[in-house]
Amino acid sequence: MSATAPTGSECKVQAINFSFSYAYGETKALHSLNLAIRPGSLLTIMGPTGSGKTTFLRALNRLNDRVAGTGHTGQLLLDGKDVYGQEVDVAELRRRVGMVFALPTPLPLSIYENVAYGPRKKGIRSRAKLDTIVEKALKTAVIFEEVKDRLHSSAQRLSGGQQQRLALARVLAVDPEVILLDEPTSGLDPLSTLRIEETLRQLRSDFTIVLVTHDPLQAARIKSDVAFFYLGELVEIGPATEIFTRPQDRRTEDYITGKFG
Ligand code: ADP
Ligand code: MG
Repeated sequence: MSATAPTGSECKVQAINFSFSYAYGETKALHSLNLAIRPGSLLTIMGPTGSGKTTFLRALNRLNDRVAGTGHTGQLLLDGKDVYGQEVDVAELRRRVGMVFALPTPLPLSIYENVAYGPRKKGIRSRAKLDTIVEKALKTAVIFEEVKDRLHSSAQRLSGGQQQRLALARVLAVDPEVILLDEPTSGLDPLSTLRIEETLRQLRSDFTIVLVTHDPLQAARIKSDVAFFYLGELVEIGPATEIFTRPQDRRTEDYITGKFG
């Protein structure tokens, strides 16, 4: 297949016949998903509401563990190891696979303390070390210049777009390998949305990024590899240029031309 189908050790993330259901006997939220993501790449997953996008992200860092009745079959691999393996330390998994949610929810703390929170929990106490980590994370999330003079004021006074870049900085501060973003711009104005997209483009080579969107235009703008999910199925995956100019599946074509959404 396309450039998005690396094999074996080349994969950062790989789903092999991975199915997920919320309750026994109910329709599966993900049907036998097969998908591979190379390290240092960005994959945009698009699809209408209910297509299983969030389920896939939450399965990857096991956020569904405490939801009663959930079950999966098949495998979901991170660096070739099943994230549901018995020896997996879930806290460590969530550090390696960070998540940014649709609605930013900064802690009721200062900008600095929001970013220092994860590193502190990891046991880092040195003020100098924390200063370095916080500054680097804010810079990488492209928000440092805007907040450097008010690091100790409340994060909740930031704009929505700034809070989303702060959420990204909080993930970056614990040194992740994979960054998952679930419709991170759905509550943002167009300008803030473009800033987030630009930030992700800058980060893509240093991390493995999975961006979920319900907006095909966003997937087209990002110009990364794109996967189209529909009703829990991966319909099509490939470079944006291919998907948007020569979709192979009728459902993809109907979706990108706005016949449903
Ligand atoms: P998307 O993010 O693409 O909108 P989801 O992954 O949220 O899709 O949902 C996929 C399917 O799983 C939908 O049919 C949805 O109703 C169902 N689902 C999602 N979360 C739950 C849950 N906590 N309990 C039961 N069903 C759920
Ligand atoms: Mg969702």
